[in-house]
Amino acid sequence: MKQQNIDPLKRVEDQLKKCVKCGACRQNCPAFTAFQREPAVARGKITLAQHLLADDLELDDQTYLAMSKCLLCGSCVDKCPNDVPTDEIVIAARESLAQRRGLTTFHAAVGQVIKSRTRMQMGAKMASLLGPLFFKKVPKTSGLRLRFPVPFVGNTRFVPEVAKNSFMDQHPEVIPGEPGKPHIAFFVGCMTNFVYTEVGEAALALFRHLGCTIIIPKGQQCCGLPGMSGGDLATVRDLAEKNLAEFDKYEVDYVMSACATCSGALHRLYPLVVGKRNPELRERLDALAKKTVDASQLLHQLGLDATETGSGEEISVTYHDPCHLRTRGVTKQPRELLKATPGVTLVEMAGADQCCGLGGTFNVYHYDSSMNINNGKSAAIEATGAQAVATGCPGCMMQLSDGLKQHGSNVEVIHTLQLLARKLKL
Ligand code: SF4
Ligand code: SF4
Repeated sequence: MKQQNIDPLKRVEDQLKKCVKCGACRQNCPAFTAFQREPAVARGKITLAQHLLADDLELDDQTYLAMSKCLLCGSCVDKCPNDVPTDEIVIAARESLAQRRGLTTFHAAVGQVIKSRTRMQMGAKMASLLGPLFFKKVPKTSGLRLRFPVPFVGNTRFVPEVAKNSFMDQHPEVIPGEPGKPHIAFFVGCMTNFVYTEVGEAALALFRHLGCTIIIPKGQQCCGLPGMSGGDLATVRDLAEKNLAEFDKYEVDYVMSACATCSGALHRLYPLVVGKRNPELRERLDALAKKTVDASQLLHQLGLDATETGSGEEISVTYHDPCHLRTRGVTKQPRELLKATPGVTLVEMAGADQCCGLGGTFNVYHYDSSMNINNGKSAAIEATGAQAVATGCPGCMMQLSDGLKQHGSNVEVIHTLQLLARKLKL
């Protein structure tokens, strides 16, 4: 693959110039909420990136740390009157820093894990077998806590259990549907494959209910998004190319994911960080992006009718917008699906569109700040009095569960698809 060897910040130089330092991006910036310092907000990071590009900044740990304080939630992009793409600038700045200083040990380790499906598979197997040695079940919750502190994890957080068998191991590559119905390739994603396998089952049940043919390409890899947090764009590009080659093998109408982060990577980030720099792949990546849809978006489009099975048990639910759906405008479809489901009452929370604080590896690297951001979200969920909070991203599910359990709350955290499948008795 041909790559021009230039500073990644050079590619966003014109975008950097568009910032007029008005400060409108402070509003709703979760990093500013957590750190209350100018370098945490978009304007501060843009100034930092401008100095990096001009090469008049000392490359110390503080510079690196400042650029790591961003969840790539896109909230500042929505607020900016000049359409400054801060998320794209932060990605470029992180890559630039990684090129100058190398990756941190933590981010290098993340890259090693996500770039090999076999390594992930083995890691997940070990985690499910050895889990009880390291984790204890917490009474009255379905969560686990570490028995002792581990670097970057601590022993206060609640983590979900790793599945005994991965989702992809339990299903064939092709699940035939009815003639004339859509063919869908399923981008499963690591969290659904190894942890929240029930989300994958709900997706399968719902699309089979609609008669769709489902293809689960066995060679699919991690979407690569965790690599973005530390500037490991080489890994992101490698994974993007592998996923592109794998999904290009199938003639399908849609590429669907029940993980907002994964569909966000295929839909927006691959064209942005790979396609823009590689004309040979651009067309194919754009075609993949065009076909990529979120599962709730596709169910809505295909006209899922949940009224067929009667109301069943009543449940009040609030909905959290994952950033990777909100920034693509997928906000009304999951709500409309929930509202149309008999027995489901949707109660809106304050700040439903605000980031839950996960932000990829931000949650690991800046755990306390991540939970500080999450406090507001947990309080908003509890204030609704809802029995459950639905969302469209397994990563958000993990973060919301941790936050709610830290608050001593019994609110159930559920994927929108799980709730729909449950109500349809699938
Ligand atoms: S990024 Fe946009 S909103 Fe923020 S200071 Fe610059 S111009 Fe203003
Ligand atoms: S992407 Fe989100 S966290 Fe990062 S600067 Fe913008 S609003 Fe703040």
